[in-house]
Formats: sequence, structure tokens, C-alpha cells
Amino acid sequence: MPGDTGHGAIRGRTPGPEVVPVTPERERRELDAAIRRVVQRNACIGCGLCTQLDTSLRLELDADGFLRPHRSDAPGVVAPDARRQFERSCPGCRVDAARPRGSRRHATMGSSFGVWEAWASDEVVRRRGSSGGALTALHGWLLEQGRASAIAGASVGREPRRTVPVTILSKEDALAAAGSRYAPVGVLADPALASCDAITGKPCEISAIRLLGSTPRSDGAAHSGDAGGPLLLSFFCAGTPSQRATDELLARLGFGADEAVDDLWYRGHGWPGRFTVRADGRDGSLSYEESWGEVLGRATNWRCKVCADGVGESADVVAADFWRIDDRGYPVFTEGPGSSALIARTRRGLEAVLAAQAAGAIVLRPITMSALANVQPLQRNRRTTLFGRLMGSRLAGVPGPRYRGFRLWALALRHPRQNLRAARGTRARLRRATAPTTGSAP
Ligand SMILES: Cc1cc2nc3c(=O)[nH]c(=O)nc-3n(C[C@H](O)[C@H](O)[C@H](O)COP(=O)(O)OP(=O)(O)OC[C@H]3O[C@@H](n4cnc5c(N)ncnc54)[C@H](O)[C@@H]3O)c2cc1C
Repeated sequence: MPGDTGHGAIRGRTPGPEVVPVTPERERRELDAAIRRVVQRNACIGCGLCTQLDTSLRLELDADGFLRPHRSDAPGVVAPDARRQFERSCPGCRVDAARPRGSRRHATMGSSFGVWEAWASDEVVRRRGSSGGALTALHGWLLEQGRASAIAGASVGREPRRTVPVTILSKEDALAAAGSRYAPVGVLADPALASCDAITGKPCEISAIRLLGSTPRSDGAAHSGDAGGPLLLSFFCAGTPSQRATDELLARLGFGADEAVDDLWYRGHGWPGRFTVRADGRDGSLSYEESWGEVLGRATNWRCKVCADGVGESADVVAADFWRIDDRGYPVFTEGPGSSALIARTRRGLEAVLAAQAAGAIVLRPITMSALANVQPLQRNRRTTLFGRLMGSRLAGVPGPRYRGFRLWALALRHPRQNLRAARGTRARLRRATAPTTGSAP
């Protein structure tokens, strides 16, 4: 058609039905129904994203010890289009693999612009950190340089048995938040999230905030995953253990359910460090193998068992343990000076890591993605057999989230027998479980 700019067809369209604005009550009803669908599939991870879309939602522990959203009586604001935003960014609905232009891609470890062994130059930070204290060193450096004025993270709660979202405002706060917390916490439930210019969270939390992109939030603020948004930091994640697992560890150490606890940490103060409880002048502790290996690692959320993204593909920078391995390829957990791996997943992440090194905040030693994959058997195997697990889960009537760009089918084609076994095992386990779905929704 001469002179057609391509827009003419739209301009010339017969007017459609009048658009009726959705009332907050209806938006809320639709959001609640969408959340319920995720919770009923047992795909809720308790990240807190939905509490940003509707400020009257709160995360609360359910009977199984996992955080789930609940509607409180407090008045709150619901974002226009909250249901749609939820469905496109909730990690129980969808997770995308990020492939920034110019990055290199590893089938199980994801995309990168650079990968290193890394640790904090400051010995105190290195010792307090979960592995090499690299994330804590980056936090301190970002704040010191004025690149960030507030960083969202997680730390020990006022009641030390619990883990809470925190806003890190100083190097001291960063040190206080160092170390992995193997317990439920929703970093995105932090009411101060909108004022944070960096966010450190689990891969699912970082995926959610990246996908939420620049869509408006309930308070009108915006979180954009692009260069203008907060710097997104993450770590490899094998899954969030139930709060009940922490209770079990306390019981093993002889601490009563109602006994006051002064401090509790899971990792750090060494590498990998010991699960340690301090109460009334006495310490009790368990090795990483006893705490993670025997209790915490066996009590993870179902959604985590079918996670395609334990390696934090949506982050700008990701940290992991750079384990030493034995002859059979298994990580060795003897105590030693902490060592993290750092991956720059975006150009912005690359710039930040190299600038932190130049400023003397972290020490870097280049490694390859294959070297990292070698010392991360859990992440490598989980992704390799995930296609099978997801199929098994679907056959048992519990479909997992939608994963895009992970090429799980290509890994399955390369490892057909393992995937078949995973599919059968998952289907059988889910069918045996009387109620794979637990928890209530708003
Ligand atoms: C649940 C969980 C599972 C993990 N699984 C693996 C794994 O399979 N493989 C692996 O290599 N590493 C895993 N890690 C990460 C690992 O324990 C280290 O965090 C990582 O090596 C970075 O160490 P670091 O010393 O640089 O971090 P640190 O300097 O100790 O900083 C850690 C930061 O993470 C934040 N944080 C701690 N716990 C949480 C939490 N639960 N939710 C959100 N933010 C938190 C804190 O705000 C802190 O600032 C896991 C961590 C967690 C919390």
C-alpha cells in the first residue's frame, strides 16, 4: 500500500471494545488467584516478589517451614497490572537464561564475560565470608566508592534462629551480613528494596527482579534489570532448606525449642566453617558435612529441586565456592583459607569486578568455566538431568516453572539414560508423596 508506514494498519483497525480499567479489588483477586496457582503447584520459593506488587502481602512460614505469601489486614497498595507482572516475573512461573551479546556460554555454568577464583583482600572479611568473602568485599567497595548507597541482602534476625532481609548501608553492615544463611528468607520482601542500588540474593530472587524489569511497582517506583537498574549480585544455590532443618540442628546440639539463642551462623568464620550456635555463654557447633550434608541439604524446597538456574544466570556478578576436589571429583570440606569463584555475567558486572580488583578490594586469579564446572558436581548434574526431572514432575501432575533459553533438552539428548532415570524417579517419588503440594495462599 503506497505510503503505508506500517502503523496505518493499526490506525485503520475497527475500534475494539472499550477498555474498562481494572479496579484494585479485582486486580487483588486476580493476583491472589495467580499466587494460589503457584503455591498449589508447590512452585513458590518465598522470594517476596509479590509483596512488592501488593504491599498488603506478607511472607509467613507455613507448617513445613517455608515462606509463603499471606494477605495481612494492613492497608496496602496494589500495582496496576499486578497479576500480569507477577506471572511474567515470579520464579514459580518463569525463569529465563540470560545470554548477553558478546558473552561466552557454558552448557551448565551459563554465560560469562570473565571467571576467576577470588577472595577478599581483607583477611577479616575473607574469614567471615561464606567462602572467600568476595561478595562482602564487593559490598564494602561499592558503598565506599559511592557506587551504591544501600544494598539489599540477608542476615541473622533479631531472633537469631531466623534469617531476615537487611539493607546494608556501611562496611560494618556488610561484614555483619557476611556468610550464607541456609534458611528461608525473602530478600525481595525488604520494604526498603526500592531504595537499594544493588541487590544480593538467591538466583530466583535475582531472576524475578531482572524479569520485573522496568515495570512500575505498587509505589510507582521502577526496578530495571538493565544498566540503569540496581547492580544484581548472586551466588550458586543448591536450594533453600526449611526452617525446620535449623530447628533440628539446634535440637541435635541440645538447645531447647524455647531456649534463647544469642547468635547463630551456618557458614563462614573459616571455609567452609561450622554451623554454630551461641547461647548463654556456650557454643555448640557442627561441621559442614553434618549440618548441610545430613540435615539442611535434605530439607530443601521442592521448587529448588527442579531449579534450572542454581548458577544465577540473571545476575551481573555471581559468586560460588571454588571447592578443592578429591580424586573421585567430590568436593573436600577440610577447613582452609576461603576461596570463592566469581563470574561476570554482564559487561557491567565485568567492569565492577575489575574495578574492585584495581582498588585492592578483591584478589582475582583467572580460571576457566570448565574448571568451575569440575568443582561444582551438584550444579552440573542437576542441570544435566533437569529435563528428565521436569518431565517426571509433569507426568505426576506437578508442572514446574517455564524455563527459557537453558537448552535443557540439548543436555538431555547428550545424557538420555540419566534423564530417563531422573524422569522415572521423580514421577515415582511425587506419586508416592501423599501431598506434594503444601501451604496455603493469600
Ligand atoms: C541457600 C544457599 C545455597 C547455596 N548453595 C551453593 C551451591 O550449591 N554451590 C556453591 O558454590 N555455593 C552455594 N551457596 C553460596 C555459597 O555458600 C557462598 O555464598 C558463595 O560462595 C559466596 O561466598 P562469599 O564468601 O563470596 O559470600 P559472602 O561474602 O559470605 O556474602 C554472602 C552474601 O549472601 C547474602 N546471603 C546469605 N544468605 C542468603 C540467603 N539465604 N538469601 C539471600 N541472600 C543471602 C548475604 O547478604 C551476604 O551478603 C549457597 C548459599 C545459600 C544461601
